[in-house]
Amino acid sequence: MSAIKLKNIVKRYGDGFPAVNDVSIDIADGEFVILVGPSGCGKSTLLRMIVGLEDITDGELSIGEKVVNDLPPRERNLAMVFQNYALYPHLSVYENIAFPLRLAKAPDDEVDTKVREASATLELDEHLERKPGNLSGGQRQRVAMGRAIVREADAFLFDEPLSNLDAKLRGQMRTEIARLQKKLGITTVYVTHDQTEAMTLGDRVAVLKKGVLQQLATPRELYENP
Ligand code: ADP
Ligand code: ADP
Repeated sequence: MSAIKLKNIVKRYGDGFPAVNDVSIDIADGEFVILVGPSGCGKSTLLRMIVGLEDITDGELSIGEKVVNDLPPRERNLAMVFQNYALYPHLSVYENIAFPLRLAKAPDDEVDTKVREASATLELDEHLERKPGNLSGGQRQRVAMGRAIVREADAFLFDEPLSNLDAKLRGQMRTEIARLQKKLGITTVYVTHDQTEAMTLGDRVAVLKKGVLQQLATPRELYENP
């Protein structure tokens, strides 16, 4: 787990006004921060710069104590949880969670210990033999989080993970993400264009408009001072 520090971050794609314009946010270790704003306000660009999928034009990004502007994604130790969760359909839940450890050629006993710890935390113990295709959306999401946990990622990054779901399921999974995030105590950045999600999920909300950080406050402060 690590704090993530954005200092005067700028992203320019071309000659127009910047997609992200001088954004500074200090995300504390274990904090859950939501990036919210309308389509085109720069949320995904900001998230992609944090993960390392997009170059930073100007400013400084730190993870823990380290400035990571020039570090490739695989060396940042962050876990991006995608909308479709990017699970392998032909592998069991067990092997989906184990995947990063297999890549790192971890010994079987270490793999087994870590997969079982993660699946206990995520309440997936009973589903280890199943394939992702016959899991519920919530279970699939937990498998994706399990994969991040065994890697001991420093933070979770979510990019609109619930936008394809119907309203009822979205509500359930929102509650579940908030609960698991607190249980794990892992630093989390979560992008959404949904106001309700923004106001119910996180510790703090960063409101973006045309690339500029308009507000950075707790949901309570935003209710009282919109
Ligand atoms: P959001 O995630 O809030 O919808 P984005 O970060 O995707 O916003 O986009 C912010 C701005 O940057 C938009 O004006 C968008 O058109 C522009 N943009 C995003 N990606 C690219 C790109 N690869 N090339 C050029 N412009 C881009
Ligand atoms: P083997 O070919 O010996 O099964 P694996 O690397 O697949 O080698 O498994 C090593 C250990 O990992 C097993 O002893 C078992 O405890 C655990 N394991 C592997 N796959 C699964 C699974 N699908 N469900 C539960 N445990 C598994």
